[in-house]
Amino acid sequence: MTPRQEHLEWSSGGEGDMARVPITVMGWRCELCSYEWIPEVQDAEPKVCPKCESSSWNRPRKNSASAMTYEAFRDTIEGVLKANKPLTWTEIRTQAKLPQMFPNNKWVHRLEDDIRLKRNRDAHGIIKWRLE
Ligand SMILES: [Zn+2]
Repeated sequence: MTPRQEHLEWSSGGEGDMARVPITVMGWRCELCSYEWIPEVQDAEPKVCPKCESSSWNRPRKNSASAMTYEAFRDTIEGVLKANKPLTWTEIRTQAKLPQMFPNNKWVHRLEDDIRLKRNRDAHGIIKWRLE
């Protein structure tokens, strides 16, 4: 769900003696086409986006690499490296059946702290991962 706040300013149309106040209403935003709207019924979640008419308007777009949590990634890498000699990313990826084509840099840096991951370039210029 993507409730979103819309700030609407209602003009009284008066000559300035009427108070103008911002009124906040909840609206929705389509994840697919970014269309934003205010529903007629506030409590019911819309079935489809009124613009692109997609029913997955509030389903965040999935991509396989981000579907995995860091914790799962860390445990997987740790398990593979504990059981093996130093491995390249491709070997780790193949063994662990990881969906990522490339390691997430932020996660790799966290692994260096969390499980004392080391990445060393060998004599052939190939980067090998191992645990210290
Ligand atoms: Zn839409």
